[in-house]
Amino acid sequence: MSATVKKYVYQFEEADEHNKKLFGGKGVSLIQMSKLGLPVPPGFIITTDTCVDFYAPRKAEIDSIEAELSKNPPPEIRDRLIEKVWSIIDSLQLPQGLWEQVVENMRILEKKTGKKFGDPNNPLLVSVRSGAPISMPGMMDTVLNLGLNDQVVVGLAKLADNEWFAYDAYRRFINMFGKIVLGIDEKQFNSVFEELNEKFKKEAEEKFADELQKIREKIPLYTPRLDAQPPRDIAPRLWQRSVEYLKELVEKYKEVVKKNWGEFPQDPWKQLELAIKAVFRSWMNPRAIFYRIMNKVTPDIAHCTAVNVVTMVFGNMGWDSGTGVVFSRDVATGEDVLYGEFLPNAQGEDVVAGIRTPYPVSELKRISPQLYEELYRASKLLEKVNKDVQDIEFTVERGKLYFLQCRDAKMTPLARVKTVVDMVKEGILTKEEAILKVSPEHVIQLLYPRIDPKAKATPIAKGLPASPGAVSGQVVFHPDDAVRWAREGKRVILVRTETKPDDVHGFYAAVGILTSRGGMTSHAAVVARAIGKTAVVGAEALDVHEEEKYFRVGNIVVKEGDWVTIDGNTGNVYLGVVPTVEAGLIPELAEILAWADEIRKLGVRANADVPADAEMALKFGAEGIGLLRIERMFRKPERLELLRKVILAENTEERVKHLKPLAEMIKQDFKEIFKIMDGKPVIVRLIDPPLHEFLPKPEEVLREIYELRMKNAPENVIKEKEWLYKRVTVLQEANPMLGHRGVRVGVTYPEFYYYLSTAILEAAAELKKEGYKPVIEIMIPQVAEVNEIRYVKQKAILPALEDVKKKYGVELDVKIGTMVETVRACLTMDEIAKEVDFISFGTNDLTQATFSFSRDDAENKFLPLYLQEKIVPANPFETLDVKGVGKLIEMAVKMARASNPKIEIGICGEHGGDPASIMFLHKIGLDYVSASPFRVPVARLAAAQAALKYKS
Ligand code: PEP
Ligand code: MG
Repeated sequence: MSATVKKYVYQFEEADEHNKKLFGGKGVSLIQMSKLGLPVPPGFIITTDTCVDFYAPRKAEIDSIEAELSKNPPPEIRDRLIEKVWSIIDSLQLPQGLWEQVVENMRILEKKTGKKFGDPNNPLLVSVRSGAPISMPGMMDTVLNLGLNDQVVVGLAKLADNEWFAYDAYRRFINMFGKIVLGIDEKQFNSVFEELNEKFKKEAEEKFADELQKIREKIPLYTPRLDAQPPRDIAPRLWQRSVEYLKELVEKYKEVVKKNWGEFPQDPWKQLELAIKAVFRSWMNPRAIFYRIMNKVTPDIAHCTAVNVVTMVFGNMGWDSGTGVVFSRDVATGEDVLYGEFLPNAQGEDVVAGIRTPYPVSELKRISPQLYEELYRASKLLEKVNKDVQDIEFTVERGKLYFLQCRDAKMTPLARVKTVVDMVKEGILTKEEAILKVSPEHVIQLLYPRIDPKAKATPIAKGLPASPGAVSGQVVFHPDDAVRWAREGKRVILVRTETKPDDVHGFYAAVGILTSRGGMTSHAAVVARAIGKTAVVGAEALDVHEEEKYFRVGNIVVKEGDWVTIDGNTGNVYLGVVPTVEAGLIPELAEILAWADEIRKLGVRANADVPADAEMALKFGAEGIGLLRIERMFRKPERLELLRKVILAENTEERVKHLKPLAEMIKQDFKEIFKIMDGKPVIVRLIDPPLHEFLPKPEEVLREIYELRMKNAPENVIKEKEWLYKRVTVLQEANPMLGHRGVRVGVTYPEFYYYLSTAILEAAAELKKEGYKPVIEIMIPQVAEVNEIRYVKQKAILPALEDVKKKYGVELDVKIGTMVETVRACLTMDEIAKEVDFISFGTNDLTQATFSFSRDDAENKFLPLYLQEKIVPANPFETLDVKGVGKLIEMAVKMARASNPKIEIGICGEHGGDPASIMFLHKIGLDYVSASPFRVPVARLAAAQAALKYKS
């Protein structure tokens, strides 16, 4: 043990607001706001290092349990692991020297506030709040009103001249302390509360009707509840009665504690010690662990939680008090207005938990324009300093405003994009900063489907549009059901009255979330936005019965398994499956992408095979087509028929007979696409897949022969089928993926590649004559050996080029290149690069070849287990395996540039649209990426972010 004890505790003013790792997100915001001179209740921070030290003695064991949990074990094992980790934590002691520093800092707080901890005549009460360096909304614990006991509550009532307030604070404290610190099931408190609340409500209506009438004249929305103070001046009798109820509630809560744990601790210092430990422990509560796993928060980024001990201010001191959450701009639309919610006469937890439905913050403007103005000015100041839209927690105690937290707001993708564009125009952000603030996921979500305006569906309910997109799914009512159903491959919508942090695993499993209670800042809304799930919250017309697994709207009953559609853009809820349409680029996104285009070094093309794809690609900003898979043109029945004849032909002459009309047919499609992409490069790949993919299966043909025989079909028809059977059997291969495909077809049947090339080149020649400027590149797939390229060039592509030039009398400047999708092509790139004008990495096949994982089977056979057991860090067919496949690519790029400095290098595998892969592809100096049309906007943004990241 070291002789000097570490400094674990800092008052807000002495701490550094830039050190989020040490003070946590909430901590730095409190430090920052204090230093900016905003009204913040005095307090101190116990650093995240303290929490690390707290766990240190048993770290290895805890880490290994967390690693087990990250494998998503079945519930029984999961629960056992969690029990184990908690019993370890319960045996831990606060780090050496911490307690003395806490006491010392409490004394400072006492000095600052003039109050005394535990003194009934002038008590200091505190909140003990968690706050990690990374944002984990609602995942960890907080205790409010700490310091109350049987004596202090009497003093507090006197001091505030309000018994109701004091006992309400006390019962909240026992409830929260019991649940969070002592681990008592919340349901036990809830049922006691509900019982008394019902009694109180009934009594109020029956015995205090006259007073209720008077209240409603002033506060029309008022309903009597045990957790809302009746206005004492208007209804003194009802008020007095409710105080008696609260006192009874306190006693009953203490009994719950006694039954489950022992006598409720009356010593405030003991309360404080236990609460600090509980906040440390909440770092390891199941939902926090799960949140970290799902958000890929690895231990090196995570760094535990800080504990903020803050002087209590009370939003429930009466109707001139209140609490709220406000955003400096509208987090749904991005509009520049103060947006948020305010609940008079309440404590913060009510808002965040979505227990009571709050008023819009505009109501505060009506009640107190001056407070509203103060809030507005502070929000703009914080926005400027933090360069982002702010999410601010505040409390008003007897007319005085206090700030309790600020952080960068979570927004809908629409709001994210609009606010950064506005902030650039307002001079708060630079274009570069704006680009880095928009995530590729935002772009993907902005292209999310919307309800088809032509669909004449009528909503059955309307809630708040908490998180965008429009999705259909089968209704489930429990997060565990959501997980189970999703595992079975079902699309589910999780329906709850309100959600709690413990539900978060269900969020990930569901395609959408629907709740009947809560506002835009309720847990469901915040988490859904954060993880990009469509959500509608506070659809109050829904009467949800979670246990019985149904909800009712009017006389419509929706049971578990029924289909509904929710629209997170409007808040509408529909019965059944409502058609959706894809969205286009909104103007603000187009603007950001235009800025991205100025910055990025990588070109962005699209993989497109038909005119509609090409049009979409162009609309999304593609600079050309990086891959046109020619075989996709053979889907139409008459073409497939001809193609089959070509494949089945037994000699060249016969093949040519069918190839000629086939080439003529596809030429028209080429013309259409080249016209759409006029002036932009189009890479057409010659036929690639194994040929048997275009043929019927032998067993199918055999069945047909059998049926024909049964029907006594004419002998010549049967003969023809028998011939077909013989041919398809001959053409079968044991390993088609490694068989007669790609360039090997071009080598064995040069006439095949000749006619395909002719179709491409004639289309280009005809367009050129019509005044267009087609830019054509012909690509040879599956090459492993440079001689393959030489062979098909000489035997097929160059002769076709000569013939077309002659036929049309036009010059055609055509690039000839190859796809790089075999390991040998990478290894011999020095030779290959000399033979071609361009190369394009086909990373789908190259990944298959490098791992020897079948791309058709791996993802539904063993890869899920590989991912779960962390044998591979990510699905290599989605995110480029930089260590292996990436190394091959990097090496090939170097060789290619060295032996052919003019060579053009791109990628057209799926990885071309994956942001993480794009980072790497930028770094190793590719010329362009090619992605599916919908991924083009993502690629444009990711390419700019890569350029900014690697800017030296
Ligand atoms: C590839 O292999 O990466 C590729 C783009 O080609 P395909 O997916 O058509 O095999
Ligand atoms: Mg391929």
